Amino acid sequence: PFQLSARALSLKPSSTVAVSSRALELRRQGIDVISMSVGEPDFDTPAHVKAAAIHAIESGKTKYTAVSGIAELREAISAKFTRENGLNHAPDAVTVTSGGKQALFNAFFALLNPGDEVLIPAPYWVSYPEMVAFTGAVPVPVPTTPESGFMLDPGVLEALVTPRTRMIVLNSPGNPTGAVFPPEVLQAVAELAQRHSLTIVSDEMYEHLVYDAEQVSIGRYAPEHTLTVNGASKAYAMTGWRIGYAGGPKGVIAAMNAIQSQSTSNASSVSQYAALAALEQHEETARFVEMARNAYRERRDFIVAGLNALGLPTPTPQGAFYVMTDITSIHPGELEAARIILDDARVAVVPGTDFGAPGQVRLSYAAGMDTLAEVLRRIGGVVSR
Ligand code: PLP
Repeated sequence: PFQLSARALSLKPSSTVAVSSRALELRRQGIDVISMSVGEPDFDTPAHVKAAAIHAIESGKTKYTAVSGIAELREAISAKFTRENGLNHAPDAVTVTSGGKQALFNAFFALLNPGDEVLIPAPYWVSYPEMVAFTGAVPVPVPTTPESGFMLDPGVLEALVTPRTRMIVLNSPGNPTGAVFPPEVLQAVAELAQRHSLTIVSDEMYEHLVYDAEQVSIGRYAPEHTLTVNGASKAYAMTGWRIGYAGGPKGVIAAMNAIQSQSTSNASSVSQYAALAALEQHEETARFVEMARNAYRERRDFIVAGLNALGLPTPTPQGAFYVMTDITSIHPGELEAARIILDDARVAVVPGTDFGAPGQVRLSYAAGMDTLAEVLRRIGGVVSR
């Protein structure tokens, strides 16, 4: 009696999920699997954030909120955009969503028509092409190379612009590459977006996780063309709270609010008060972010050196908490290599297939040093065979 819609059938479940379900299945069989596949901080949410949520529950902040989020949070986000990013978004040019994911989803549905082309630097986060295709628009990958550290070349990007191009999606620091685009690259992209009348959606979820580079918001160079998306998940170890947000032109934010008003209504009220504490008590939060960043830097250096020493070429990413590794010496196909690493080394990694990264797998290093040492030992066993 149930016939799935053409839309539902067109969606590919993410391979990230496929690998983690297989890893869970092996665990259920009592096999000890280490998961390097999830994009989630291993730190707990900071105490002052949790305390604010508990206070919100106890004081009855448990009802619907405005669609775009509570006014205090939109004010705090507006202040954060000014303080940390040099961006000017008044509170009514800001919207709060259920995770960064929903901000992107609402933005794509607010801005794209069927047949529009969207330029997406590859390797890309798996959800961009899927969400874009869900609107009927066409994702167009913009190639980058491991040799350049997956750096975006604005010339390569511009060569792919056609009369149907509507949007560029940027993600710096990037998942899965960890690439951080420097100011001169962002300036060139901003300039070509202006020249070709394109919209830029800048996903800055990993902005605080940069190691030897400087993160700059492209919205500074093309404010009329840019929608900036961010959230609490990665920076404040708040993945489960589901708080994302966006700032941009008021008309776009209003359209995103209209979409949200007919789907989720608003992000969780309790989580909004938690995010408010993270942004308002920003000095306390900055101490947490600094601690996390230092830990990630140490882990990155350790895992990159270890994988290269095993003969698996791995560029040093400048941001986020992922490494991309060339596994062609294990198996020329990344799906097969990921299967071998899971079955023989009992380490779950994500094949590059859905990231647009053939011959590569992604490892998340948001794990303790002991775990990372064990991962290297296990993968070393597979390589030596
Ligand atoms: N953007 C990127 C690049 C991500 O990696 C993720 C999470 O994996 C998100 C957005 C979504 O974040 P959230 O958990 O807040 O929806």
